[in-house]
Amino acid sequence: MSRVFNFSAGPAALPEPVLRQCAAEMLDWHGSGMSVMEMSHRGPQFIAIAQEAEALLRELLAVPANYKVLFMQGGAIGENAIVPMNLLRGKTRIDFVDTGAWSQKSLQEAGKYGEAHVAASSAATGYDRVPPRADWQLDPDAAYVHICANETIGGVEYFFDPDVGAVPLVADMSSNLLSRPVDVSKYGLIYGGAQKNIGPSGLTIVIVRDDLIGQALPCTPSAFDYKTVADAESMYNTPPTWAIYVAGLVFRWIKDRGGLQAMEAHNRAKAAVLYDYLDATDFYRSPVQRDCRSLMNVPFHLKDKALDAAFLKGAEARGLVQLKGHRVVGGMRASIYNAMPIEGVHALVDWMQAFEREHR
Ligand SMILES: *Cc1c(COP(=O)(O)O)cnc(C)c1O
Repeated sequence: MSRVFNFSAGPAALPEPVLRQCAAEMLDWHGSGMSVMEMSHRGPQFIAIAQEAEALLRELLAVPANYKVLFMQGGAIGENAIVPMNLLRGKTRIDFVDTGAWSQKSLQEAGKYGEAHVAASSAATGYDRVPPRADWQLDPDAAYVHICANETIGGVEYFFDPDVGAVPLVADMSSNLLSRPVDVSKYGLIYGGAQKNIGPSGLTIVIVRDDLIGQALPCTPSAFDYKTVADAESMYNTPPTWAIYVAGLVFRWIKDRGGLQAMEAHNRAKAAVLYDYLDATDFYRSPVQRDCRSLMNVPFHLKDKALDAAFLKGAEARGLVQLKGHRVVGGMRASIYNAMPIEGVHALVDWMQAFEREHR
């Protein structure tokens, strides 16, 4: 067996010790005689698994007591509708900060339920930055302000928690949740699909402040009403049991490695290896302004895009896979989530240097 360095944006690489533990427990979880996949979600064994996963997530993020942690389904794209259905609360306007493809998608979907308004945008500069907070045109009567904390496609990340006053701040953190500490109390709601930095696809994580729950639009499906989900402790309908189990193992793995501060140090070190090289050469180029460059998703372009295919082919031959950029932006993208070891980033930069020597 040989494992590659997988730079996929998602579903993405998982920590190898977690995969090994899944394999070891696959047929017989802790003497139960069955796989976690075969357990009733209402049985004591799975309930213990889910409760431990939630407790670990709360501990890692220091989630305040007045927030619910919900394990849902439908992905972040599902939340693009579920959030407005739950959070409009009799208001009409929603303020969006447009930083690229994912915030665009959120904005378009929310427009089905409310009046989605662009409070700030970096479209004019090719989505290369987060618009400075001072330029945001916010409505104090908006239902909430929505940001995408890390644009997975464009590689633009927030390194501040925007102060939006009394209006709840909602963040799509699909691709950077658990990459570093976050002050949850600065947000009304945080959501994300698990398959980037947390676990298998199928699980959506929602962290929502208590006072925002319980005023969903009457048309909201019960399974997507935060109140129904919270009251049933995320078991209103059958939850994605396997994904919750694996996510719990990932949470334990993060804790054992020193928690989110240690993760941040690890992620900053990895990103620095790549960005330092991108800045030192003119053969490759980062399209993102320095102070907003994502620690998780690093898009880059070759000087001559006619060389893209050869670059990818050579990378693959070295076990460096899924580096092709998203079709919207082209070029390359290296996703270097928690589970990517620094050796993978060094191997990528070694290949980039070798390719540059050959083709410059
Ligand atoms: C991947 C991603 C999504 C889409 O998530 P799904 O789980 O496919 O619904 C939305 N937002 C961001 C920031 C993402 O990275």
